[in-house]
Amino acid sequence: MPTEKAPAPAAKALPAPVRAMHKLGLVRDIDLALHLPMRYVDETRIVPISSLRDGDTGQVQGTVSECRVESRGRRQLLVKLDDGHGELTLRLLHFYPSHQKTLAVGQTVRARGEVRHGFFGREMVHPEFRAVQPDTPLPQALTPVYPSTAALPQAYLRKAVISALGRAPLHELLPPGVVPPGLPPLREALHTLHHPGRETPTEALEDHSHPAWQRLKFEELLAQQLSQAQAQAARAKLAAPVLQGAPGGLAERLLAALPFTLTAAQQRVVAEIAADLGRPQPMHRLLQGDVGSGKTVVAALAAAAAMGAGWQCALMAPTEILAEQHFRKLVGWLAPLGITVAWLTGSRKGKARQAEVEKVARGEAMLVVGTHAVIQDDVVFAKLGLAIVDEQHRFGVAQRLALRKKLEGEGAPPGKQLEPHLLMMSATPIPRTLAMSYYADLDVSTIDELPPGRTPIVTKVFADGKRPAVIERIREEVAQGRQVYWVCPLVEESEHIDLQNATATHAELTAALPGVLVGLLHGRMKPAEKAAVMALFTAGEMKLLVATTVIEVGVDVPNASLMVIEHAERFGLAQLHQLRGRVGRGAVASVCVLLYTAPLSPTGKDRLKAMAETNDGFEIARRDLEIRGPGEFMGARQSGDALLRFADLAEDGALLQRAREAAPRLLREQPSVAAAHVQRWLASKAEYLKA
Ligand code: ADP
Ligand code: MG
Repeated sequence: MPTEKAPAPAAKALPAPVRAMHKLGLVRDIDLALHLPMRYVDETRIVPISSLRDGDTGQVQGTVSECRVESRGRRQLLVKLDDGHGELTLRLLHFYPSHQKTLAVGQTVRARGEVRHGFFGREMVHPEFRAVQPDTPLPQALTPVYPSTAALPQAYLRKAVISALGRAPLHELLPPGVVPPGLPPLREALHTLHHPGRETPTEALEDHSHPAWQRLKFEELLAQQLSQAQAQAARAKLAAPVLQGAPGGLAERLLAALPFTLTAAQQRVVAEIAADLGRPQPMHRLLQGDVGSGKTVVAALAAAAAMGAGWQCALMAPTEILAEQHFRKLVGWLAPLGITVAWLTGSRKGKARQAEVEKVARGEAMLVVGTHAVIQDDVVFAKLGLAIVDEQHRFGVAQRLALRKKLEGEGAPPGKQLEPHLLMMSATPIPRTLAMSYYADLDVSTIDELPPGRTPIVTKVFADGKRPAVIERIREEVAQGRQVYWVCPLVEESEHIDLQNATATHAELTAALPGVLVGLLHGRMKPAEKAAVMALFTAGEMKLLVATTVIEVGVDVPNASLMVIEHAERFGLAQLHQLRGRVGRGAVASVCVLLYTAPLSPTGKDRLKAMAETNDGFEIARRDLEIRGPGEFMGARQSGDALLRFADLAEDGALLQRAREAAPRLLREQPSVAAAHVQRWLASKAEYLKA
């Protein structure tokens, strides 16, 4: 929400609670103002001791009539409190001399806790308490309880919030008529949420239905809608070539030549993409589908539609191995139909590269497949109509933008800029709501069905002690003509250790499996070496491939039926799922073995359990979200930075509708207010909203 940058804190010099606040992201006044209580405690009233029943929680006030340390059995402090109508024992199992002073005979004490019938009659065990004067006023507001940590006491946080609320820039931006009727101004809403009056129903605050909560949700949803509308308006100013395939054209011929029929889901997304390509505005679509769902052929059909209409197509993948897989597949499908495919990667240099670049510039190569090399400055397309980015989350915003700029503007209608259509692919399924809130202006197509004939992968979780049995299993698989992957741990701090592990494992497995060709693949190898190893494995000559995570994405060897992941506890859930997706690509029953080294952290345990329980990428993504929180989900690594922090799209449909209606009007009638509102809420997220 805030616009000012967080000051860089001198970490060491700060007091512990301040450091604890920073850890929670509570740095600026506005951060504290938006740190909302999770519940409230009612300290605004005193109840007579005699009215409290067993199990009631309440606040009482009385005079201490007795204060003694009981030393028989467990040492404890017993304090009798008398409010003139009844008596109650306060029992403290941990106490300091200062407590005895506060609770000395004759003191007036206010205590809050749950009443139970104990050994000493009616009692409160470890109540909250403090000494007061008989006429000390009661708080007028409910006491907030904030999400916090052990290092950050509630009392400290409460004070910090009060003073921050006074300073934070919370002036009312939205004109009357925009905010749904009955909702308070922003500043007032926040005051209510932090310090609700004693009559406020806490249920409405705690279940977020209170008007003050509704106001915050509306603010946030409006910002989201405004930024989407801004992005759509920006896209409407762009023009793109209309790529409409003729009947009997390239796309249809490719479809007819495929060795399989498309699944219903593939047919649906192919149609969605074709409709976009036929419009004079650039497509901006995310194609998501679980690993193995068959995105490549959808990309090929989109490319065929573009090329059939006379325009070039570029396909960019994050790694050379993956790019090469695409290249082989696409050449296999398209070369027989007369299409020349160019190949551009970092390892293709000098004359060879020059030759490819020229083919692209002349328009002789209608399709270009490669890595980042595709967006180098010297690559000029004759007429780029469609850009496809595989594993799009591995590319930065700048790289996607560079690809979009590869179509130089001739032929654009006056006042418009010409851009190619953009198709992004991802095997990391993003829950739709999350995708919508991260990418303001993005259409999403989902392949939610696997090609037929796949046998579900069985996942087994073993302690590393089971290694010999796992190696035995590899021997059996290989004897049956199948192939196996063995993935080595990722040690984030050190690529060097990674390599040592992989090399040692490679040696171990080579020794344990005489007569079996065992390959090694890691990030430090030259692209040509990697390609040579991959070629042997793809051809089926190499039976076992030991690899660091370089095989993570996209590799497609249907004959591989066993995947062993060593130190599985060190991988993220999405990554494990990606890796597992390398097997189960053919009709053979496949197994994924997750080896872990004890002790497992609670998160590690959760992840492995999730993997064993489901093969469904969407379910995995949902659990990942649960375990990690949405901030990290997109690789943003700013925890708690999800765009929708207050609103819940599933629950707040009515508010969302209001925001949808209000956004275009505000943009039209008061664009500067709209801009200020977006700036206030989304300034730090703007990056995601652009590309
Ligand atoms: P991903 O979505 O993970 O990129 P791929 O495109 O690599 O998946 O497809 C996985 C495998 O399934 C490939 O071998 C591909 O040729 C095959 N495939 C794709 N679509 C179908 C289909 N409709 N029927 C049968 N096999 C298919
Ligand atoms: Mg793929």
